[in-house]
Amino acid sequence: MTQPTDTLEAMNGTTRPRPLLDHSLAELDALFAGFGEPRYRARQAARWALKRGVTDFEAMSDIPAALRARLATEFTLSAPPVLATTAADDGATTKVLLDLGGGAAVEAVRMAYDPDEPLALGRVTVCVSTQVGCAMGCVFCATGQQGFTRNLSASEIVAQVLHFTRQGRVNNVVFMGMGEPLANTSATLAAIRWLVDADGLDMRARGITVSTVGLRAGIRRLADEGLQVGLTISLHAPDDALRRRLIPTAGGTTIDELVAAAREYIERRGRRVTFAYALLDGVNDSEEQARRLASRIRGIQAHVNLIPYNPTAGAGLRRPSPQRVRAFHEALLAEGINATVRMERGVDIAAACGQLRTDFATRADALTLA
Ligand code: SAH
Ligand code: SF4
Repeated sequence: MTQPTDTLEAMNGTTRPRPLLDHSLAELDALFAGFGEPRYRARQAARWALKRGVTDFEAMSDIPAALRARLATEFTLSAPPVLATTAADDGATTKVLLDLGGGAAVEAVRMAYDPDEPLALGRVTVCVSTQVGCAMGCVFCATGQQGFTRNLSASEIVAQVLHFTRQGRVNNVVFMGMGEPLANTSATLAAIRWLVDADGLDMRARGITVSTVGLRAGIRRLADEGLQVGLTISLHAPDDALRRRLIPTAGGTTIDELVAAAREYIERRGRRVTFAYALLDGVNDSEEQARRLASRIRGIQAHVNLIPYNPTAGAGLRRPSPQRVRAFHEALLAEGINATVRMERGVDIAAACGQLRTDFATRADALTLA
């Protein structure tokens, strides 16, 4: 995609400034060295961009003025404009729709709690998107129903976290917004490096969780990073036939293969893996299905996170009653499987995935039609 433009620019002898945070720290070190600058300057600029969240090179007051001017011609450092904000739970959950330009927008959510560890008080979790839309087509997911538009760059992923760190502390980052992070692995990993680097946001790798529909090559690359990043694999069914109906693109990968991938991740990274399971009324929520699920994942250090379906427009699916959710949960526990039910806060703004974007688009359409 960028090839023709790059070639054109090369022919014109110009290069468009690139987002600073689309470069790795190693690349920045090399580029700054090329400007004749000492090595530490790249890290200094990174600290301003991440720890301080500045959006203007002029604000980097301990960097010499001449270099600041040079940086402003070589790089960009902008914050995406906010198109919409919605809040729930008396402000404990906030969702923003960020404008990435060219008609593309993604959502990010801030939760003043940890949705998967409600007892850990005082934690702030930010949920980020990795793609505009998603190609995986899960039938229960608003993003999946939107189709795929494009991958986000590392800087666009980091920008979502920075939007919230400018307002205060963030402890956890979960890759559970719009899109499939491991269908955009390079940008996802580059963003994670900025989050954990001491000269970046300096976050704990253990506070970061990547949720995947189950792309094994990406899981392996995540493990190769050598970081203790948490991994969630979205399973949603106890058998492959049902899983293929819910995730039409899952065809090539079986549940057994995903359990094997989870086992390998646990062995290599020493971190428990979570299996996400969206509960759909009358589809995958019977006690019998809970027992079958238990038999497939028994024996590994896994945990099941049950997510009662968040109704999204047009899918014709329903959220199970609290009684059915409880029965499914208890059936797993009775089988010796560690399981929790995702905290339901923020549900009125559909904090799970994709929905703000859908609402927003629908409202815009309605306005156009009116
Ligand atoms: N693409 C990744 C991460 C984004 S979705 C993945 O699929 O894992 C984050 C989680 O929200 C996934 O477990 C996904 O299955 C779940 N999810 C998506 N839409 C949902 C809905 N309407 N109700 C409940 N869970 C949903
Ligand atoms: Fe994509 Fe995840 Fe939604 Fe499936 S659930 S369509 S993988 S974002």
